[in-house]
Amino acid sequence: MADLKPLASISKPLIVRVAVLSPLRRSFDYLLPDELAKSPPQPGCRVSVPFGRRTVIGLVIELAESSDFDLDKLKPVDAIVDADPLLPKSLFKLFNWAANYYHHPIGDALFTALPVLLRTGRPLPEPRLTRLWQATKTGIENGHELLRGAKQRALLDELAADPLRIENDLLKRYSRATLNSLLEKQVAEIVFIGPQEIDVENLLRQPPLTLNPSQQQAMDTIDCHGFNSWLLDGVTGSGKTEIYLQCIEKIIRYGRQALVLIPEISLTPQTEKRFRDRFNAPLVMLHSGLTDQERLESWAQAARGEAAIVLGTRSAVFTPLKRPGIIILDEEHDQSYKQQDGFRYSARDLAVIRAKQETIPIILGSATPSLESLNNCATGRYRHLLLRARAGEAVQPHWRMVDLRAEQVECGIATSTLSAIREAVAQNQQVLVFLNRRGFAPAMLCHDCGFAVDCPNCDTRLTVHRRHQRLLCHHCNYSRRLPQCCPNCQSQRMVAAGDGTERSEGFLQSRFPDTPVLRIDRDTTRKKNAMQEMFDAVDSGEPCVLIGTQMLAKGHHFANISLVAVLDADSGLFSADFRAHERLGQLLVQVAGRSGRGKIAGSVILQTHQPDHPLLDVLIKQGYSHFANLLSEQRQLLQLPPFSQLTLIRADADRPDSAEAFLQQARQIAESIISPSPSLSYLGPLPALMERRNSRYRYLLQISGERRSDLNYLLSHLVLQLEKLPAARQVRWGIDVDPQEL
Ligand code: ADP
Ligand code: ZN
Ligand code: ZN
Repeated sequence: MADLKPLASISKPLIVRVAVLSPLRRSFDYLLPDELAKSPPQPGCRVSVPFGRRTVIGLVIELAESSDFDLDKLKPVDAIVDADPLLPKSLFKLFNWAANYYHHPIGDALFTALPVLLRTGRPLPEPRLTRLWQATKTGIENGHELLRGAKQRALLDELAADPLRIENDLLKRYSRATLNSLLEKQVAEIVFIGPQEIDVENLLRQPPLTLNPSQQQAMDTIDCHGFNSWLLDGVTGSGKTEIYLQCIEKIIRYGRQALVLIPEISLTPQTEKRFRDRFNAPLVMLHSGLTDQERLESWAQAARGEAAIVLGTRSAVFTPLKRPGIIILDEEHDQSYKQQDGFRYSARDLAVIRAKQETIPIILGSATPSLESLNNCATGRYRHLLLRARAGEAVQPHWRMVDLRAEQVECGIATSTLSAIREAVAQNQQVLVFLNRRGFAPAMLCHDCGFAVDCPNCDTRLTVHRRHQRLLCHHCNYSRRLPQCCPNCQSQRMVAAGDGTERSEGFLQSRFPDTPVLRIDRDTTRKKNAMQEMFDAVDSGEPCVLIGTQMLAKGHHFANISLVAVLDADSGLFSADFRAHERLGQLLVQVAGRSGRGKIAGSVILQTHQPDHPLLDVLIKQGYSHFANLLSEQRQLLQLPPFSQLTLIRADADRPDSAEAFLQQARQIAESIISPSPSLSYLGPLPALMERRNSRYRYLLQISGERRSDLNYLLSHLVLQLEKLPAARQVRWGIDVDPQEL
């Protein structure tokens, strides 16, 4: 983007450069007609413009004096939608940066990040007024004579004692009719007030905890002024959240706002509660569970500076803040920060760029930092803060391996694991059993001919779901009834092979008939509140056995779990994805971290066929940071990220040869821009790890380079040529910079 010129120096004609929702990697120029020229739209304002045969809403990127296009061919702007920019300049800069870095069309990037309701010409909502009730003079002087009912009188007394009560609070205890009767008798009235200044004097509802020495040291190091990236590397339960809270307190006192990003809100209802319990300041949420209207409302409150704290998931990194003060991104290693389709940005990496652009600090927190972030610490881009011990009374759990080859195993559970569970339950403790496979069994096989029932749309087996008597594809949602006989040899001996959470749940329940067995996975938590009800049951502290998928590994703080059993520690040891080991280590440590968070010392059982696997050994005996160091050394040796730069060009099509041919052409063009060398290499086209998904054939071209600048140069030239290829129309394609999955 060219530097903006002061308007006065721009001589006519005025060109308005606009981003619209389009797959093309460019902006579009329009003329500003005379009648709009008196108050030209500022960058960040919406305008309506003719586009093809339609009129669309676009965002003004900049005003310019000249255009690369023939002025006679430019069309005029229809109308200006916003008097003031919808997006602050700083955020605009972020979008520009992101569009350049990810080689994604800026219009698409901007519009996917805007609340749906703003993608049309709808105005930004006005600040919401709060309805407050107060007693009138008549009411105070002789209200009781005018009112009959005891409820009405009680309400009046309340209003007289304590004026300006929020209507919604009153409605929790009084009926609408009671309220209205006070209005009718004119003993009470309604007043409206706008958003209130944040009351810094009474900011805290709860006093902060007294930090332990390592927390204090971290807190003293974190500078809440100016840009700096901090990696807060602290074992689960070490008190990272307490540090976030205390940093946020500081910056609210400076009159600024905090943006807090977390991987998934539904899994961590406690996070919201901890923020609300601590601060007497407006907090808004931004996540996919909101209605369009709610999302717009939160967004607007952040933009207007009313919200002191914005708590959101990935796309909340694009929330405009009037007075940005700090960004906190928890569980920075979590994959959900990377958008996996369309505009494939990493919210973590963009958050760091944003903090830099806004000169504010950013804290990335994790018990299992990504190799990228650890490397950024090693190279001095981030500053490393360590919390080695758990805060409060809890101690680190004790790990133990169970060799699956040496034991009897039933429904995925080894005999010695079962005894350990029995022991814990007998002592009225809680147990968490982890199996990252939902459903009853991962495959349905024919006992006679070995035939496995596959998904007709994907390269994968169908999962048996016994409760629903169906086979389901976990990738495309295809579903069918359980087959009565083998589709291949008609044998009636079809068996459900392998173990999923549904099967292990049934087995555990049969072994512990008097103990509640709660299954937490996507199938059992679909209903609203189902998850919360299960969490509540666990939080009650009664003995129980929880079984579930990685949903259990995330964030939720279980105070009473004393034993964690990982049924299958091996999945991930032998994957073709170079990040698989890192993921496995993170998952195991995160699951283990659910244990012994309260007063009971926890232990962790790892069931494996590979008890001697060197990686598991390092992880268990020496801990995550040694494990991560070991993986880093391997990556460096193999020149894999973060020690090289990786980009994928992805293409999928309804025929495999279309996708492959497109990428073949892409490779040729790319090689003509920068020819292969030791510092920039090409691999592919290759089929994706799951080649066919949802009836689409997926291919990739891998480009890896030593220098980011080479890749960036290459991609910026390549994408413009790819857009023009006829073969591009037969495929869906996109660029994946810093891919997280292959
Ligand atoms: P993390 O975010 O690293 O998992 P939390 O901040 O959730 O850790 O802290 C874990 C538990 O320890 C919480 O129950 C928290 O209230 C408690 N805790 C944190 N810091 C302290 C402290 N300084 N003193 C006492 N308890 C603490
Ligand atoms: Zn068969
Ligand atoms: Zn499928």
